[in-house]
Amino acid sequence: MFNKELIWKEIEQCGLKKEIKIDELMKYHTSWKIGGIADFFCIPTDEEGLKKIIFFASKHELPIYIIGNGSNIWVPDEGLRGLVVKLSGTLDKIEYSGKMIKAGAGILLPALVRKTVEKGLSGLEFAAHIPGTLGGAIFNNASFGNKSIADIVRKIVVFDYNDNTIEIDIDQSIFFYRGLDLGIEKYIIVATYLEMVEDSKDKIISRIKNFYNQRKMNQPTDSLTAGCIFKNTEKQPAGFLIEKSGAKGLSIGDAQVSEKHANFIINRGKATSKDILLLIEEVEKKVEKTFGIMLEKEIDIIGLSNDQ
Ligand SMILES: Cc1cc2nc3c(=O)[nH]c(=O)nc-3n(C[C@H](O)[C@H](O)[C@H](O)COP(=O)(O)OP(=O)(O)OC[C@H]3O[C@@H](n4cnc5c(N)ncnc54)[C@H](O)[C@@H]3O)c2cc1C
Repeated sequence: MFNKELIWKEIEQCGLKKEIKIDELMKYHTSWKIGGIADFFCIPTDEEGLKKIIFFASKHELPIYIIGNGSNIWVPDEGLRGLVVKLSGTLDKIEYSGKMIKAGAGILLPALVRKTVEKGLSGLEFAAHIPGTLGGAIFNNASFGNKSIADIVRKIVVFDYNDNTIEIDIDQSIFFYRGLDLGIEKYIIVATYLEMVEDSKDKIISRIKNFYNQRKMNQPTDSLTAGCIFKNTEKQPAGFLIEKSGAKGLSIGDAQVSEKHANFIINRGKATSKDILLLIEEVEKKVEKTFGIMLEKEIDIIGLSNDQ
C-alpha cells in the first residue's frame, strides 16, 4: 500500500500539483452520481500530460483507474485507492480527411455526432444519445439497435503504459459483444480513425430522431442510470429475464429496478453504491432461481477489491 502523504509531496515536487487533485468525490464523475473519494484524480491536459501522469503513477506503484465519462461504471462508497485518470474533457480534437475522421478518445459522443452531422457525415447516428466518450464506446463496443461503433472503426491509437503510442489497424473481427480484443494487456485508447459515409444532413438528423424516439419509448431517459446493467443472453434480452423473474420495480434504498426497462437500475436520488450493488445481486439471484441463468454484467465494477 502506498503512503498518500508521501505521494502528495512527490506530486508537488514533480510539478504535477496543477494536474492532479487529492481526495476527489467520484459521485461527480459517474452518471449514477455514486462513489466515494478517490485518493488522486486528474484530467490530463493532452497526450503528453497523460503520459507524464501514467509514468508518475507507475513509478510510485499507484493503482490507475482510467475512466471516460463514467456512464458505465460502478464505484464503491468507500472510493478508490489510487489515481483516477478521466479522459472526458480532454483529448477531444477531430481531424477530417474526406470520409475518414480522426477523433480523440475523450470527446463525448453527442458532441462528436453534432460535429459530424455539420460536415454531412453519417455512421454515428445511433450514438447521439449515449452519454459516454468515444474511448469508452470503443472499449465497450457501444451499440444501439443494429448499429455499433465496431462498424466504422478503422484504426485505434493506444498508449501502452510503456511510453509507446501504437496505431493498430482494425477489422471488425477484433470486436465482440460489449468489448474488443486488441491483444495488448494494458492500454489507454487515445484516438480513433472512423470511416463515415457522406449523406444529407436532413437524412442524418431524421435517423438520429428515430433512434432517440426508440430510446425514449423504452428506456428511463429522465433518470440517473448507467445504461444497461447486464448483457443480453444469446436467447433472451436481459430485461425480459429480469422482468419475468419478478424483479421489475424492486428497490433497495433509493436504488430501483426501472419500471420502464428492467435492465436499468435508477438512482431515485440518494442511492448509495452499496444499495445499487445489493440490488444487482438480488436481480442476479432472482434470474438464476427462475431460469438457471447467471447474467453477466455489462457495467464495469471498479475498485471493489480495495475496500470491501
Ligand atoms: C443514459 C445512458 C444511456 C446509455 N445508452 C447506451 C447505449 O445505447 N449503448 C451502449 O452500448 N451503451 C450505452 N450506455 C452505456 C455507456 O454510456 C457506454 O458504454 C459508453 O460507451 C461508456 O463510455 P464512458 O466514457 O462513460 O466510459 P466509462 O463508463 O467511463 O468507462 C467504461 C469502461 O471503459 C474504460 N475506458 C473508458 N475510456 C477508455 C479509454 N480511453 N481507454 C481505455 N479504456 C477506457 C474504463 O476503464 C471502463 O472500464 C448508456 C449509459 C447511460 C447512462
